[in-house]
Amino acid sequence: MDSQDLNFEFTWAFNIQVTEKNSGKYTQVTNKELEFIRSMVGPERMSTGESVLELHSKDESFHQRRKPDVVVWPLRTEEISQILKMADERRIPVTPWGAGTSLEGNPIPLEGGILLDLQQMNHVLELRTEDLQVRVEAGVLYKELNQHLSRFGLFFPPDPGASATVGGMVANNASGIRTVKYGATKDFVLSMVVVLPSGEVIRIGTNATKSSSGYDLCRLFVGSEGTLGLVTEVTLRLIGLPAEFMAAVVQFDLIREATDTVIQIMRSGLSPAALEFLDAPTVRVVNQFKKLSLEERPTLFIEFHGASAMGLKEELELVKEICGEHRSLRFDSGIGREKRNRLWEARYGVRESIKVNDPGFHPLVIDTAVPISKYSDLVAWGQKIIEKKGLKGYAFGHAGSGNLHMEILGIPEEKAQWQRVREAEEEIVYFALECGGTATGEHGIGIGKRKFMKKEHGESLLLMKQIKKLLDPNGIMNPGKIFE
Ligand SMILES: Cc1cc2nc3c(=O)[nH]c(=O)nc-3n(C[C@H](O)[C@H](O)[C@H](O)COP(=O)(O)OP(=O)(O)OC[C@H]3O[C@@H](n4cnc5c(N)ncnc54)[C@H](O)[C@@H]3O)c2cc1C
Repeated sequence: MDSQDLNFEFTWAFNIQVTEKNSGKYTQVTNKELEFIRSMVGPERMSTGESVLELHSKDESFHQRRKPDVVVWPLRTEEISQILKMADERRIPVTPWGAGTSLEGNPIPLEGGILLDLQQMNHVLELRTEDLQVRVEAGVLYKELNQHLSRFGLFFPPDPGASATVGGMVANNASGIRTVKYGATKDFVLSMVVVLPSGEVIRIGTNATKSSSGYDLCRLFVGSEGTLGLVTEVTLRLIGLPAEFMAAVVQFDLIREATDTVIQIMRSGLSPAALEFLDAPTVRVVNQFKKLSLEERPTLFIEFHGASAMGLKEELELVKEICGEHRSLRFDSGIGREKRNRLWEARYGVRESIKVNDPGFHPLVIDTAVPISKYSDLVAWGQKIIEKKGLKGYAFGHAGSGNLHMEILGIPEEKAQWQRVREAEEEIVYFALECGGTATGEHGIGIGKRKFMKKEHGESLLLMKQIKKLLDPNGIMNPGKIFE
């Protein structure tokens, strides 16, 4: 097995066709370009082998696969700069690749061309413990980074769960379970080195944790999904590892009781480090495949971080009171480190558990986020739509951040059923937008959410397109993403 195979944690046992189609707007990679790339990186850090191209034709979504013409593993910013300069001059598409764990087709090279896999740019370049900052290459896996940082009592909180790279997290503005307290990736990026589509290398941002100097270009590149340039280096702000934690599992009879509790906790001035909602079917699959033994009911996983056990105990008492007011049936807070780790492993394993429970199906993942006061309405609406369409779905999510995931099961080849899945998606996303929310809280637009951009952004979508045109006039960077 090629070492690049290890990028993938799991793939759905599902046959998604690979397309060779392209729009005709771009130039194909020929021997001349391959020779140029070889002169840059040598023969061992590029491949046109079928299995390598196949592995880079898909992410973790159901979207149509497309192979690149060549995969390159650069080691230096300068190599990327030279390759982008050549590609821009010859109108060859370039797609950056982190670990391929996206859920919206974000890194699929829709027009073929050159795929730059950052996996080998995986070094921690500088750790400044005194400033709580680290400078890393973009291909570093965030889990490995956190293992390294833990020896110094530090961590980088955004945690998408999958084995993602820092570059991929920056590009998708990833977040996760701990975002409710600490923030998303955008809140941790201080400066970056970016290679523009022309090959020009720029450094943006500073090492100051606050700045009012000029346009915030870091925020422009965060969430740009590789469509504006390629990030090779990132300086991240870090957090001290909390001295104490306390976790609780709370169960309810009704979904609305659970979600109203979330709203009340967030309004009460408490600051949970995690506040996750799971509906009863989701609890059922994690019980089965992640060895939990919870009652199959609407459930909240809650965690607090702090400096003293006493302070956390007081916070948990207040949470217990709020849960009681919303008729909680069980409040289990005597949770030690081992059980707490199992709970979070189960939560991170929801998608995998659904996959094992429902073989042959492919879920469409809803990733809407709304202002917290609308969370209960969003969850109720989602449940209603799934039922109305006669579909099977699971509801869970980073509730404290107003983020709801629903995995709606379907089979893309079964046209009528898949049509109902897509209609359900649209009804749920449009409801979230009417609540002042977003189509995607953390997975990005990729291919799957492009159709919601106009509705969500209105006239400002034009400005986004103009920015894209300014930075990438030939449209070579990750074409076909974000915009329809
Ligand atoms: C089981 C599972 C659970 C998940 N849970 C979460 C979650 O809780 N929260 C969450 O936010 N996400 C989640 N995800 C989605 C995914 O893990 C994140 O979006 C992650 O940030 C993708 O990182 P990656 O390294 O795999 O990037 P890739 O998927 O390889 O790429 C992502 C995008 O970034 C671009 N890109 C990659 N590297 C660079 C670079 N160096 N410069 C410029 N552009 C680049 C690519 O072109 C692509 O558009 C989950 C995925 C799975 C499979």
